[in-house]
Amino acid sequence: MKSLFFLLVLFLCTCSPNGEASSPRDKADQKGATTKEMKASVKVSVLPLGEINKTSVTKLYEQLQLIVPGTQLLHPEPMPGFAFYKPRNRYRADSLIGWLRDKAGKNEVYLAVTSQDISTTKDKNPDHGVMGLGFMPGKSCIASDYRLRNKKNLFKVAIHELGHTTGLPHCPVKTCYMRDAEGGNPTDEETGFCPDCTRHLRKRGWRI
Ligand SMILES: [Zn+2]
Ligand SMILES: [Zn+2]
Repeated sequence: MKSLFFLLVLFLCTCSPNGEASSPRDKADQKGATTKEMKASVKVSVLPLGEINKTSVTKLYEQLQLIVPGTQLLHPEPMPGFAFYKPRNRYRADSLIGWLRDKAGKNEVYLAVTSQDISTTKDKNPDHGVMGLGFMPGKSCIASDYRLRNKKNLFKVAIHELGHTTGLPHCPVKTCYMRDAEGGNPTDEETGFCPDCTRHLRKRGWRI
Protein backbone atom coordinates (compact mmCIF):
# COMPACT_ATOMS: atom_id res chain seq x y z
CA MET A 1 0.00 0.00 0.00
CA LYS A 2 1.47 3.27 -1.12
CA SER A 3 0.55 5.15 2.01
CA LEU A 4 2.71 2.79 4.04
CA PHE A 5 5.73 4.47 2.52
CA PHE A 6 4.77 7.96 3.47
CA LEU A 7 7.15 8.31 6.35
CA LEU A 8 7.03 11.28 8.58
CA VAL A 9 10.31 13.06 8.78
CA LEU A 10 11.01 15.25 11.72
CA PHE A 11 13.01 18.40 11.95
CA LEU A 12 13.75 18.66 15.60
CA CYS A 13 15.35 21.21 17.84
CA THR A 14 16.60 21.23 21.39
CA CYS A 15 16.51 24.95 21.87
CA SER A 16 12.80 25.12 22.49
CA PRO A 17 11.72 27.95 24.74
CA ASN A 18 10.28 25.49 27.24
CA GLY A 19 13.58 23.61 27.41
CA GLU A 20 12.24 20.24 26.49
CA ALA A 21 14.61 17.58 25.23
CA SER A 22 14.66 16.56 21.64
CA SER A 23 15.93 13.65 19.62
CA PRO A 24 17.42 13.25 16.14
CA ARG A 25 15.28 13.66 13.10
CA ASP A 26 13.79 10.41 11.94
CA LYS A 27 15.81 8.11 9.79
CA ALA A 28 15.14 8.78 6.16
CA ASP A 29 13.71 6.32 3.69
CA GLN A 30 13.74 7.02 0.01
CA LYS A 31 11.16 4.44 -1.02
CA GLY A 32 7.61 5.36 -1.75
CA ALA A 33 7.13 7.01 -5.10
CA THR A 34 7.68 5.73 -8.58
CA THR A 35 10.45 7.32 -10.62
CA LYS A 36 7.82 8.90 -12.83
CA GLU A 37 6.03 10.50 -9.86
CA MET A 38 9.25 11.76 -8.30
CA LYS A 39 10.44 13.33 -11.51
CA ALA A 40 7.22 15.12 -12.32
CA SER A 41 7.74 18.82 -11.76
CA VAL A 42 5.56 20.06 -8.94
CA LYS A 43 4.43 23.49 -7.93
CA VAL A 44 4.66 24.59 -4.33
CA SER A 45 1.65 26.25 -2.74
CA VAL A 46 2.70 28.30 0.28
CA LEU A 47 -0.09 28.56 2.85
CA PRO A 48 0.28 31.00 5.78
CA LEU A 49 -1.42 29.26 8.67
CA GLY A 50 -2.52 30.94 11.90
CA GLU A 51 -0.18 33.55 13.33
CA ILE A 52 2.70 34.42 11.01
CA ASN A 53 4.49 37.63 10.18
CA LYS A 54 3.36 38.83 6.75
CA THR A 55 6.83 40.15 5.84
CA SER A 56 8.41 36.77 6.71
CA VAL A 57 5.94 35.00 4.45
CA THR A 58 6.55 37.40 1.56
CA LYS A 59 10.31 37.01 1.91
CA LEU A 60 10.07 33.21 2.04
CA TYR A 61 7.77 33.17 -0.98
CA GLU A 62 10.20 35.33 -2.96
CA GLN A 63 13.11 33.04 -2.07
CA LEU A 64 11.22 29.86 -2.95
CA GLN A 65 9.92 31.29 -6.20
CA LEU A 66 13.48 31.59 -7.46
CA ILE A 67 14.19 27.95 -6.65
CA VAL A 68 10.99 26.07 -7.39
CA PRO A 69 9.24 27.22 -10.56
CA GLY A 70 5.49 27.67 -10.16
CA THR A 71 5.56 28.51 -6.46
CA GLN A 72 2.41 30.34 -5.47
CA LEU A 73 1.35 32.17 -2.32
CA LEU A 74 -2.11 31.32 -1.01
CA HIS A 75 -4.41 33.42 1.13
CA PRO A 76 -3.78 32.94 4.85
CA GLU A 77 -6.01 30.53 6.74
CA PRO A 78 -6.62 30.16 10.47
CA MET A 79 -5.19 27.14 12.24
CA PRO A 80 -7.80 24.40 11.98
CA GLY A 81 -9.30 23.54 15.35
CA PHE A 82 -8.93 19.79 14.90
CA ALA A 83 -5.14 20.11 15.11
CA PHE A 84 -5.13 21.93 18.46
CA TYR A 85 -3.44 20.06 21.30
CA LYS A 86 -4.89 21.60 24.40
CA PRO A 87 -2.53 20.16 27.05
CA ARG A 88 0.40 22.07 25.50
CA ASN A 89 -1.54 24.86 23.81
CA ARG A 90 -0.03 24.03 20.43
CA TYR A 91 -0.88 22.35 17.14
CA ARG A 92 -0.24 18.86 15.88
CA ALA A 93 2.03 18.97 12.86
CA ASP A 94 1.20 15.40 11.88
CA SER A 95 -2.52 16.19 11.74
CA LEU A 96 -1.83 19.35 9.79
CA ILE A 97 0.30 17.76 7.05
CA GLY A 98 -2.31 14.99 6.65
CA TRP A 99 -4.96 17.67 6.13
CA LEU A 100 -2.72 19.56 3.70
CA ARG A 101 -1.96 16.42 1.72
CA ASP A 102 -5.68 16.04 1.05
CA LYS A 103 -5.86 19.62 -0.24
CA ALA A 104 -2.99 19.21 -2.67
CA GLY A 105 -3.84 18.70 -6.32
CA LYS A 106 -1.94 16.78 -8.96
CA ASN A 107 1.71 17.83 -9.11
CA GLU A 108 1.19 20.19 -6.19
CA VAL A 109 2.94 20.28 -2.83
CA TYR A 110 1.60 22.27 0.11
CA LEU A 111 3.98 24.12 2.39
CA ALA A 112 2.27 25.59 5.44
CA VAL A 113 4.16 28.29 7.35
CA THR A 114 3.34 29.49 10.83
CA SER A 115 4.75 31.17 13.90
CA GLN A 116 2.75 28.95 16.18
CA ASP A 117 4.23 26.04 18.07
CA ILE A 118 3.80 22.64 16.41
CA SER A 119 4.43 19.12 17.62
CA THR A 120 4.24 15.48 16.72
CA THR A 121 4.68 12.06 18.29
CA LYS A 122 8.35 11.12 18.51
CA ASP A 123 9.40 7.73 19.87
CA LYS A 124 8.00 7.57 23.41
CA ASN A 125 7.14 11.25 23.57
CA PRO A 126 3.49 11.61 22.60
CA ASP A 127 3.82 15.34 21.93
CA HIS A 128 7.24 16.53 20.89
CA GLY A 129 7.79 20.11 19.75
CA VAL A 130 9.28 20.45 16.26
CA MET A 131 10.31 23.16 13.79
CA GLY A 132 8.95 21.34 10.80
CA LEU A 133 7.46 18.13 9.52
CA GLY A 134 6.99 16.71 6.06
CA PHE A 135 6.13 13.54 4.20
CA MET A 136 9.00 11.82 2.41
CA PRO A 137 8.19 11.70 -0.36
CA GLY A 138 4.82 13.34 -0.33
CA LYS A 139 2.57 16.26 -1.03
CA SER A 140 2.74 18.35 2.10
CA CYS A 141 4.94 19.78 4.81
CA ILE A 142 4.91 22.48 7.45
CA ALA A 143 7.55 24.88 8.82
CA SER A 144 7.32 26.97 11.98
CA ASP A 145 9.61 29.78 13.14
CA TYR A 146 8.37 29.49 16.73
CA ARG A 147 11.60 27.79 17.89
CA LEU A 148 13.98 29.84 15.77
CA ARG A 149 16.06 32.53 17.44
CA ASN A 150 16.92 33.84 13.98
CA LYS A 151 13.54 34.06 12.26
CA LYS A 152 15.26 34.34 8.86
CA ASN A 153 16.11 30.66 9.19
CA LEU A 154 12.48 29.84 8.43
CA PHE A 155 13.66 29.53 4.83
CA LYS A 156 16.09 26.77 5.83
CA VAL A 157 13.41 24.85 7.74
CA ALA A 158 11.02 25.23 4.80
CA ILE A 159 13.52 24.18 2.13
CA HIS A 160 14.55 21.18 4.26
CA GLU A 161 10.96 19.99 4.55
CA LEU A 162 10.30 20.62 0.85
CA GLY A 163 13.43 18.59 0.11
CA HIS A 164 11.89 15.67 1.99
CA THR A 165 8.71 15.93 -0.08
CA THR A 166 10.84 15.26 -3.19
CA GLY A 167 12.17 12.11 -1.55
CA LEU A 168 15.45 13.49 -0.22
CA PRO A 169 16.58 11.83 3.01
CA HIS A 170 18.80 13.43 5.63
CA CYS A 171 22.31 14.23 4.50
CA PRO A 172 25.64 13.65 6.30
CA VAL A 173 27.13 16.94 5.02
CA LYS A 174 27.07 19.36 7.96
CA THR A 175 26.56 22.48 5.86
CA CYS A 176 23.76 20.96 3.77
CA TYR A 177 20.17 22.09 4.22
CA MET A 178 19.21 18.40 4.44
CA ARG A 179 21.41 17.62 7.42
CA ASP A 180 19.93 15.89 10.41
CA ALA A 181 19.50 18.20 13.40
CA GLU A 182 20.74 15.37 15.66
CA GLY A 183 19.06 16.86 18.65
CA GLY A 184 20.16 20.44 18.06
CA ASN A 185 19.34 23.38 15.88
CA PRO A 186 22.01 23.47 13.16
CA THR A 187 20.31 25.98 10.88
CA ASP A 188 23.01 28.62 11.43
CA GLU A 189 25.64 26.19 10.08
CA GLU A 190 23.69 25.30 6.96
CA THR A 191 24.85 27.19 3.88
CA GLY A 192 23.14 25.40 0.97
CA PHE A 193 22.48 22.03 -0.61
CA CYS A 194 25.51 19.75 -1.02
CA PRO A 195 26.39 18.45 -4.53
CA ASP A 196 24.48 15.16 -4.10
CA CYS A 197 21.30 16.84 -2.83
CA THR A 198 21.63 19.51 -5.52
CA ARG A 199 21.80 16.83 -8.21
CA HIS A 200 18.65 15.16 -6.86
CA LEU A 201 16.72 18.43 -6.77
CA ARG A 202 17.85 19.66 -10.19
CA LYS A 203 16.48 16.44 -11.69
CA ARG A 204 13.16 17.52 -10.25
CA GLY A 205 13.30 20.95 -11.81
CA TRP A 206 14.65 22.97 -8.89
CA ARG A 207 16.79 25.92 -9.93
CA ILE A 208 19.75 25.55 -7.63
ZN1 LIG B 1 14.36 16.26 8.14
ZN1 LIG C 1 23.09 17.12 1.18
